[in-house]
Amino acid sequence: MHELPVTESILNIVLSHARGNNVRKIVRINLIVGELSDLEDEWIQRYFDYLSKDTIARDAKLNIIRAPVILKCDACANEFQVDIKQQKDIVCPECSNTSCSLVSGREYYIKDMEVQ
Ligand SMILES: [Zn+2]
Repeated sequence: MHELPVTESILNIVLSHARGNNVRKIVRINLIVGELSDLEDEWIQRYFDYLSKDTIARDAKLNIIRAPVILKCDACANEFQVDIKQQKDIVCPECSNTSCSLVSGREYYIKDMEVQ
């Protein structure tokens, strides 16, 4: 259950951004979450509703966009996207090497937000 500290930090970021921009209400937050992240959309929203209830972000909708998993081949440096759910063996499409490093897929960040 590490959604709670993550959600708390998301809320703190949007609130401090809102304070600096004379925002009255935060309506929607677009959040990018890597496909390899085990953050559950439902829990993020639940914790957010709970933590934000006395703030201007109350009732804001979290729109979670899953970012693809990108790998980089250790042999030829080719970067490619993989569908983790479909693919069992990870193989570089350029040179068939099987040793690859993760470029993105585990991150989460706020893309933007809609305010009033
Ligand atoms: Zn390769």
